[in-house]
Amino acid sequence: MPSDPSVIGLAATRELEERYLMRTYKRGAVDFVRGEGAYLYDAEGRQYLDFLAGISVCSIGHCHPAVVAAVTEQAERLMHVSNLFYTEPMARLAQRLSESSLGGRVFFCNSGTEANEAAIKVARKHAHGRGIAAPEIVSFESEFHGRSYGALAATPKLARNEALGPMLPGFVSVPDNDAEALCAAVGPHTAAVLIEPIQGESGVWPTTDEALLAARQACDEVGALLIFDEIQTGIGRTGSLWAYEQTPVRPDVITSAKALGGGMPIGACITGPAAAEALQPGDHGSTFAAGPIATSAALAVLETVDDPALLRSVREMGTRLRTGLEELPGVVGTRGRGLMVGVALEEGIDAPAIGADLLRRGLVVNAPAPDTLRLLPPLVVEPDQIDRAVGLIGESLLASGAHGH
Ligand SMILES: *Cc1c(COP(=O)(O)O)cnc(C)c1O
Repeated sequence: MPSDPSVIGLAATRELEERYLMRTYKRGAVDFVRGEGAYLYDAEGRQYLDFLAGISVCSIGHCHPAVVAAVTEQAERLMHVSNLFYTEPMARLAQRLSESSLGGRVFFCNSGTEANEAAIKVARKHAHGRGIAAPEIVSFESEFHGRSYGALAATPKLARNEALGPMLPGFVSVPDNDAEALCAAVGPHTAAVLIEPIQGESGVWPTTDEALLAARQACDEVGALLIFDEIQTGIGRTGSLWAYEQTPVRPDVITSAKALGGGMPIGACITGPAAAEALQPGDHGSTFAAGPIATSAALAVLETVDDPALLRSVREMGTRLRTGLEELPGVVGTRGRGLMVGVALEEGIDAPAIGADLLRRGLVVNAPAPDTLRLLPPLVVEPDQIDRAVGLIGESLLASGAHGH
């Protein structure tokens, strides 16, 4: 029974969901009611170590005091006025995002998908400015950019769902990391190459430096924009504020969301100088975007994450996590950078079943593919929490019959 009388509990919540929600999600069998740092608590008061952080949203931990203070103070003063007027937190956040990355202009929105929609508009408008009548956007096969029709068209595997058609034209995909195919696909009609520097939803697959360099060169040759989707990799996740800082290339546009708001919905499309003037009055907009609460939260997040000591810890904790995982029976290898970690499991081990078993053992992770676990712990995770997670994953793998090395 729930310990808090205002909570109806898992069974009753599930019943409501069955009756009233569209069936778009497959949920883990738990009903969370509270979070603090790296921990979540269910309706029965049971504690879970959270190594998913709301899919890399609660990156500085659940209910971080700086975010809570920023949100509550702002909520008491002013919640919303729309984009018909100036608000200071939005302007300050734009400055901070621009100066910490590409140095151009920022368009705000409310999610990752919308950040990519904005980037697609920027790319198409930029291309029309170069005299391209039917601009194309090129991506790799297994990328994920979101589920609205523009972002979906740039997400080749999901765009094949014909029941959702017709899809938006003007999108091209090539095999993952195939530099040659990418260069062949980029030509005079190309508006942009849109890439995740590390593919997140497909199971944490870093895009190779070779492929990134080829993309940069191909874009430069035809005047196209190189766009990095940093919605999952950004805001410190990989051990630098932006993942591109650890690659050999600098993109022209980046998109951000997820961790940016520390739990509040906000997205941003951030340009360098080349694309900064593409969108003009009338081209784009959003009622909710960059409201005072979300932007105050984001300023508190950046104040916390944009700190060399924290980013160093992300790299160190990432190494500790991967070293521990690689010694476990049933683990074939790990992928990723910083605290964005994919765990490849031995053939015959079912990753979603391990994920469900870990949830029963009090560890939250997810399984983006049948043979892969994904770990996205909060960036403030402590060494003993890393060790506990590795221990729990080891116990679960052993119980599933993993063989070891
Ligand atoms: C999560 C994600 C998106 C979509 O973000 P939403 O906020 O769910 O719309 C897009 N691209 C990448 C790389 C993501 O990880």
